[in-house]
Amino acid sequence: MSFTLHGVGVSGGIAIGHAHLVSHARLEVAHYVVPPRQAPEESARFDAAIRTVRTELEELRANVPATAPAEFIAFINLHLMILDDSTLSVAPRKIIETEQCNAEWALKVQMEALLAQFDAIEDGYLRERKTDVVQVVERVMKALSGQPGHIPAPAADAEQDLILVAHDLSPADVVQFKQHRFGSFITDLGGTTSHTAVVARSLNIPSIVALHHARQLIRESELLIVDGTQGVVIVDPDRQVFAEYQLRQHQFERERQKLKRLKDTRATTLDGVAVELHANIELPADVIVARENGATGIGLFRSEFLFLNRNDLPDEDEQFEAYRQAAQAMEGLPVTIRTYDLGADKHTEDAQRITTNPALGLRAIRLCLTEPQRFLIQLRAMLRASQFGKINIMIPMLMNAAEVDQALQLLARAKQSLDDEDVAYDRGIRVGGMIEVPAAALALGLFTRKLDFLSVGTNDLIQYTLAIDRTDDTVAHLYDPLHPAVLNLLAHIFRTANKAHVPVAVCGEMAGDASLTRLLLALGLRQYSMHSAHLLDVKQQILRSNVSEIKPLAQKMLRASDPEKLRALLDRLNA
Ligand code: PEP
Ligand code: MG
Repeated sequence: MSFTLHGVGVSGGIAIGHAHLVSHARLEVAHYVVPPRQAPEESARFDAAIRTVRTELEELRANVPATAPAEFIAFINLHLMILDDSTLSVAPRKIIETEQCNAEWALKVQMEALLAQFDAIEDGYLRERKTDVVQVVERVMKALSGQPGHIPAPAADAEQDLILVAHDLSPADVVQFKQHRFGSFITDLGGTTSHTAVVARSLNIPSIVALHHARQLIRESELLIVDGTQGVVIVDPDRQVFAEYQLRQHQFERERQKLKRLKDTRATTLDGVAVELHANIELPADVIVARENGATGIGLFRSEFLFLNRNDLPDEDEQFEAYRQAAQAMEGLPVTIRTYDLGADKHTEDAQRITTNPALGLRAIRLCLTEPQRFLIQLRAMLRASQFGKINIMIPMLMNAAEVDQALQLLARAKQSLDDEDVAYDRGIRVGGMIEVPAAALALGLFTRKLDFLSVGTNDLIQYTLAIDRTDDTVAHLYDPLHPAVLNLLAHIFRTANKAHVPVAVCGEMAGDASLTRLLLALGLRQYSMHSAHLLDVKQQILRSNVSEIKPLAQKMLRASDPEKLRALLDRLNA
């Protein structure tokens, strides 16, 4: 039966393909239907995996070298205990039967239930045992992968036809999808500017978040149409609808191809105002697509993605290599590397995540300043890489002047340590800050006085101004870049920075939204940074704009408060 689901489109275009239910990629698990008659066989496969892991752990314990620390044996014993607990070794068998699913999926479901129980525990020590549960589950998953199930996992060449359907995925999960070529990506949770959505957008495939119940309602292999522009998923479409969307898909592709002609055109308005269009990247390899789309710099390298999906931390040399690679690939064009913005919804494996309001907690520069040794490693790596191109350093989530002072002091220490070792770096390296907290926007002078450039993170600025959690799908509909408070804050930032002759960019999602290009331009923005997929669309808007004509309309928008009037004015601005 055909039905439609509505969510929030985060990346435009149309995808037509078959549903593939997935869970967290760290334990990337596919969902397959296992008919009741095959359930005993599937349970036997699960039991065999548990036995394999038990043997592995017992062998490990028997071979512990005499020099190993005493805790090592205790650690293995703990894992054996977790493995043998019936909540892990027996409960998934029941799920295989009741949910008619494969062993991996059953184990994953059970693990998520267990982890939720751990979250509710008050005792810090016990709560930390969550990591051990995950590690044991990972071992079992690995053992299961050595014992193929009834239904083979999709072949890589079939990926294009797959629409990933997930309840919730972390940004770390989504960044792993860069290695694949999926047709589309839809989730139940997440807001339009959640990091999960931000990375989904960078995959340049139609994607939707905040669908609420998609994973419950959609079955494996069902035919789906995803309209990323409208935020609509059509499940099991009839022939007529199918044909209509095929046509729209072709039209969308044709438009996209046409835009490619603008790649090397300079982004200058009809009345001669020059604009810089930079790209946002998560990994050094993203630079290739940025250049293919004509980016004249990297305005935001979200360096924290180098820290995700791994059990250790990238050391100085590894970070240096990543930054050098990006700088060299840009051949002298600026590469603005943001110091790691961990905390909130992006974590290293060793992070403590127990906090009531993570977005208001120890995140970004706040976290860096509590761990100066780790921060210094990154600063040294950036400085060393600055020899190989034009690197700028950018500090996220600044709130007060003390944070700038402390960050600059640490940078001075990093420079001194390189000087002591006779290691070269760009002595004129520029340091900028992100304006993402309303307090920083309102007290902008604190930052224009101390920094070489600013970049507005509108995703966070809107989150904190409107008090809507970026990651919470229940308030995703309240995200409103046209809210009078947001528009006036932005106008204030551009005006103040321009007056102080401090270059200011926008690198939040607003910069890549072509319907807002002219508005930002009219308010005084001259540097945009966005995911590469949006560069040419935004450039087209710039090329068709006349700043002196659109300025008065933007000023009118700053005085308007009625949402309908604001929309109408925006339409006139874009006409
Ligand atoms: C922002 O907040 O707008 C931004 C660019 O940073 P991030 O999305 O990574 O928080
Ligand atoms: Mg931010």
